[in-house]
Amino acid sequence: MTSNTNLFERAQKVIPGGVNSPVRAFRAVGGTPKFIAKGEGAYVVDEEGKRYLDFVGSWGPLILGHAHAEIVAAIGQAAALGTTYGAPCHAEVELAEEVVGAYPGLEQVRFVSSGTEATMSAIRLARGATGRDLIVKFSGCYHGHADHLLVAAGSGLVTFGQPSSAGVPKEFAALTRVLPLDDDAKLKALFDAEGDKIACVIIEPIPANNGLLLQRKEFLQLLRDLTKKHGALLIFDEVISGFRIGFGGAAAHYGITPDLATFGKVIGGGLPVGAYGGSRALMSNVAPLGPVYQAGTLSGNPVAMAAGLAMLKVIKRDNVYARLEALGAQLEKELTPALEGTAWSFVRVGSIGWLSYGPAARSAEALDSKSGDQYRPIFQALMDRGIYLAPSAYEVLFLSAVHTPEDVTRLATALREVIGR
Ligand SMILES: *Cc1c(COP(=O)(O)O)cnc(C)c1O
Repeated sequence: MTSNTNLFERAQKVIPGGVNSPVRAFRAVGGTPKFIAKGEGAYVVDEEGKRYLDFVGSWGPLILGHAHAEIVAAIGQAAALGTTYGAPCHAEVELAEEVVGAYPGLEQVRFVSSGTEATMSAIRLARGATGRDLIVKFSGCYHGHADHLLVAAGSGLVTFGQPSSAGVPKEFAALTRVLPLDDDAKLKALFDAEGDKIACVIIEPIPANNGLLLQRKEFLQLLRDLTKKHGALLIFDEVISGFRIGFGGAAAHYGITPDLATFGKVIGGGLPVGAYGGSRALMSNVAPLGPVYQAGTLSGNPVAMAAGLAMLKVIKRDNVYARLEALGAQLEKELTPALEGTAWSFVRVGSIGWLSYGPAARSAEALDSKSGDQYRPIFQALMDRGIYLAPSAYEVLFLSAVHTPEDVTRLATALREVIGR
């Protein structure tokens, strides 16, 4: 049997930090990452044979759990017919019809291979369609790792972005304005000053990458009204919330329709898929119809499309969103009283939950900087009990349709014991 430690040592020799995505390295919580040998329903099993009840769900895609039989079968059938053609295929038309039919205001969608590509392409489209260069994002929202989105708020009063990664030219970052979430006054001031130069505002309407920072509907509506008034496009980044909160994502949840929406995670059924879409008029700016270039060797990949289609079929047939809401409500009900009198609170929407150190917050600025230190022992104690939460205080947990009420009680009980100590 290979050990996690042994594999991590080998990995560190040939892969930077031993991982292909940084948070997997367990830097925030300490210890050695678990190398996963297999996933089974609500569980993952590591290389040492230890089973964990999994609430990470590959960071969101696994709404039906690991290795769902129907998805695995669909993947197998598609793969047997060839894994990629670089030409159009039946499954991509079907999945596009499903996505367009599900999401408010969507008339056309273009498939790509990751969430990063989806947001990057949507922003290029917004700039191409408006002829404007400035974009606006919010601190605490993550949109993948394209250059102009790896930008943090500048200090003091200025909203000019500063690169948040080495390798991002400050000239790129200067075209990104960064605002705090939940701040009507700053949003209005920016639109008063520069509204007519703004190509788009991108937001996670359900921000779930820096804790779970649920927004007031009024703030999202103000954003909708200001962008419309100034001819800027509103992009909802629904890479987590799309097909997770419901078929219509956060747009249907709040009753607010963006100009463009981006998808990823759930729509690929666990394979690498992203998508961006909007009205036919806007999408006709994209090549080959229009001047905004965007392409992909593996875009609309037949195996990935088959996985996405199989997943949507099961979600519809099995009334999965109702089941997820019931599990989420159960977790909230069991956990909330247990956290009373502690510094922690539980924040939830549907099947997305977050343990907040401090009261629920609406902006990244309102979060307690001690969260990371406070979370570490909780994470370790849960690992010891065979429960896998995200290895970072700022990452949410995901319930899946294969979690049972007993699994939820197991998590709530473990957290009650660990936090109560
Ligand atoms: C995960 C995520 C992305 C990036 O998607 P990748 O597939 O990791 O490139 C973009 N936006 C949001 C909201 C995400 O959660």
